[in-house]
Amino acid sequence: MDFQTKECFTAVLPVGAIEQHGSHLPVGTDAIIAEEIASRLAERLDAYLLPCVSISSSIEHRESKGTVYLKADTLALVIRDIAESLRYTGFKRLVLFSGHGGNWILKPTIRQLNRDFRERGEEMELILIPSTIALNRLHEIAKHVQGDLHAGEKETSLMLYLCPEHVKDIIPEEEPTAVPQDFMDYFDVTEMTADGYWGFPQEATADKGRRLLDLTVDCAVDFLDKIESERKRITAKR
Ligand SMILES: [Zn+2]
Repeated sequence: MDFQTKECFTAVLPVGAIEQHGSHLPVGTDAIIAEEIASRLAERLDAYLLPCVSISSSIEHRESKGTVYLKADTLALVIRDIAESLRYTGFKRLVLFSGHGGNWILKPTIRQLNRDFRERGEEMELILIPSTIALNRLHEIAKHVQGDLHAGEKETSLMLYLCPEHVKDIIPEEEPTAVPQDFMDYFDVTEMTADGYWGFPQEATADKGRRLLDLTVDCAVDFLDKIESERKRITAKR
């Protein structure tokens, strides 16, 4: 889609991360995955594909060399500025795909911005597609639906499919971490894991990665469709 045309109202923004992903995956893993999914999504939606916001909220990985992060409130402001500049030139919808599970701030950010735009009478809506959008159907592909949080079966599969040349040997863990994900609020990932990954990368295959990409894009499009149906239902009642 040529984004200069009057009919192009939607922009898609990949949000990645630059953070350690164990010794087998590159620090740009989340950015690489987010870019691929956002690009497929933009194609399906006939939308304007923006370049990736590669640096995001990765403070939990700060102890590993190569990790670069924005503080959460900085990321919120970056998203606000991107949405405001898009609205100024006529875009009405910004779809964010976050490849990094630690970007919790995106959720309250879009919830607030959607009200702010509405109250100012400005036509702009932000929609967040989290990296977990396919969670309910993950069992169709992955062996581990729970506890596969970082550089595990899912992300390693995606990278084996997208750029196998960047996937190195996995270092086996004698004692895999068994604490809840919320513990990242209190401890750095390097304190809780030996190699930095959290999950089951040894179960990864390129074929799982290929199917996971397709499933994620399908679930994202389905989510957007459901929002539109609900909007129609609410508008019809008025
Ligand atoms: Zn990741």
